[in-house]
Amino acid sequence: MLKKSLCGLTADEIFDLIGPSGFTVAHAVTISNSIYKKKIFDISQIKIPGRLTNELLKIANSGINFPLSCEVSADNTIKYLFRTETGKDFETVYIPEKKRNTICISTQSGCRMGCSYCVTGRSGFKGNLTVGEIINQILAIPDAERVTHVVFMGMGEPMDNLDNVMKACSIITAEWGLSISSRNVTVSTVGILPGVELFLNGSGCNLALSLYSPFPEERKQIIPVENQYPVRKIIELMKNFRVKKKRRLSLAYVMLRGLNDTDRHLEELKSILKGSSVRVNLLPYHATPDDQNCSSSLEKMQFFKHSLIISGISASIRKSRGSDISAACGLLAVGTGRDLSLL
Ligand code: SF4
Repeated sequence: MLKKSLCGLTADEIFDLIGPSGFTVAHAVTISNSIYKKKIFDISQIKIPGRLTNELLKIANSGINFPLSCEVSADNTIKYLFRTETGKDFETVYIPEKKRNTICISTQSGCRMGCSYCVTGRSGFKGNLTVGEIINQILAIPDAERVTHVVFMGMGEPMDNLDNVMKACSIITAEWGLSISSRNVTVSTVGILPGVELFLNGSGCNLALSLYSPFPEERKQIIPVENQYPVRKIIELMKNFRVKKKRRLSLAYVMLRGLNDTDRHLEELKSILKGSSVRVNLLPYHATPDDQNCSSSLEKMQFFKHSLIISGISASIRKSRGSDISAACGLLAVGTGRDLSLL
């Protein structure tokens, strides 16, 4: 019999597994708490009745799959390489900071959105990650206990694997799950309108929309999904959505010198966001070796930030992390990591 992986199951689904043998919801919650919160991956170590341990060992395994390799950046950002059981590779980035520790997780191996500035997009699409493979990235790294924030900004477009992403969000935020506040979980998208609508209504987690340019014709050149789902419709949806307290809807604006950092772009940004609570996160661009483009200067980014703020639009500049190990935004493409067995 094929054993069921516990990682990726809700407490209800664990109960469905053990309930027919006479065990209770409380037993199911003890198992989910042990896996997700206490990080106990050896079923025989979970504090449950012996009969349940024996039963569980027959029908399930933890589903925890450790990374194959890692690379450590000069700023202590760590990039991990994982492989699915079917041989698909994907990467996860751990970003330690003074007051928070963020894990950037993947939702797909590769991506089919084809955004021209993104290395992941250029490497093609291998497949969706399961709920267990998404959650496993948070549990299986050595710093799992220290993770305070989760961002779905690794490989893949989360809205292209929405059912698994929504279920992963519910496990991450549930009391019986990882118990991380939904305010500390952000899902990023290039803008698949039906997915964004479902996500806004079905989850309490934050949303970050990658804009690149406020002008549709320019955006189409870089983010092909603009042809199908105009970003302005998504921004309208975000502007009119009644956001519950502390939930954050934001635009990620990667800044490229001379391309999208002109006064014309700034004025258009201000015009489309006027009167909304949508926040703008300004990000430096990370050039790849064969790339002619470069990031806007810090002065230019500060000018954008200041100008947006005095126009009543919330804005911030995000720091670049892990660019020397290709772990920064848009650079994940399964490079060569250091074998973890050598550490
Ligand atoms: S930017 Fe995101 S959606 Fe676009 S190709 Fe890269 S991973 Fe996919």
